[in-house]
Amino acid sequence: MSLNRYPDREATALRSALAAYHGVDAAEVFCANGSNEAIQCLLLAYGGPGRAAMLFEPTYALHAHIARLTGTAVVSGRRDDSFRVDPDQARLVAATAARLHGPASPAVTFLCSPNNPTGGPETAASVRAMLALVPGLVVVDEAYGQFASWSSIELLESAPRLVVVRTFSKTWAMAGLRLGYLIAEPGVVASLWNVALPYHLDALKQAAGRLALGFSDEMRARVAATVEERTRVAAALGGLALEVWPSDANFLLFRAEPRDGSTLWQDLLDRSVLVRDVSGFTGLEGCLRVTIGTRSENDRFLAALREVLPSQ
Ligand code: PMP
Repeated sequence: MSLNRYPDREATALRSALAAYHGVDAAEVFCANGSNEAIQCLLLAYGGPGRAAMLFEPTYALHAHIARLTGTAVVSGRRDDSFRVDPDQARLVAATAARLHGPASPAVTFLCSPNNPTGGPETAASVRAMLALVPGLVVVDEAYGQFASWSSIELLESAPRLVVVRTFSKTWAMAGLRLGYLIAEPGVVASLWNVALPYHLDALKQAAGRLALGFSDEMRARVAATVEERTRVAAALGGLALEVWPSDANFLLFRAEPRDGSTLWQDLLDRSVLVRDVSGFTGLEGCLRVTIGTRSENDRFLAALREVLPSQ
């Protein structure tokens, strides 16, 4: 690799390796500096002033944030009590987007599977239903996709308006590399080259990404161990005075009413256990999110929680 030269502008080798990994064509793969940048490129190409993005809260906050940064209007609905996207609610929100921003709206619809921070996956039926409902792209953010039992990648062949976003930050345990990508119909990928900066992916990143793909067995083993631990921790939480939501990701969302989320977070921190306080998110009042760690880290978390929760 010669660092005095600009990198391969189209990251051909990396995109071909990712295409082979997923059984798609390299023309269907677009890489970026983290999946956030892939989402930004999508919104630069398909959003912008006069266009709208639709999403369902609570979900990954950067979908709305990046939409606004690109001048795209955000039309948001609320998930139901199980944090699923309710089809009737989706129809209403899509109609609102069309009324406010024109019949081509929403131009981009975000789903997140598994959803961050609630953990539940979309189903093939719910992704198909969304494609039938909206005129624009349906973007399924699968940042945590490899922890789940199925992927929207399966639907791509029959759905030219579907985009699936992936990252090296989670299951590949390489957040420091800043490498994400999306898979979509070649016409969609072609339009993203119009908005990406020239040579946006440096040569080291391209090489490291290809190298990482050679360790997919190790990645799968780590994912399997995490999923096993997630099942164990979820069962343990289920035995406590808590509400816990089913998760297909590497984290679990829980609520310990009547305990206030922020004081419970502090009580855990006082015992050297750091979880994510999401109790300030709309719809997540009182909730905390714990990321699944090693067996001993998870045991420490459970022990701290048992200490601070009122006994049943
Ligand atoms: N999507 C989701 C759902 C996420 O949770 C995150 C990171 N927290 C990202 C995308 C962004 O990941 P990155 O830019 O590191 O690929």
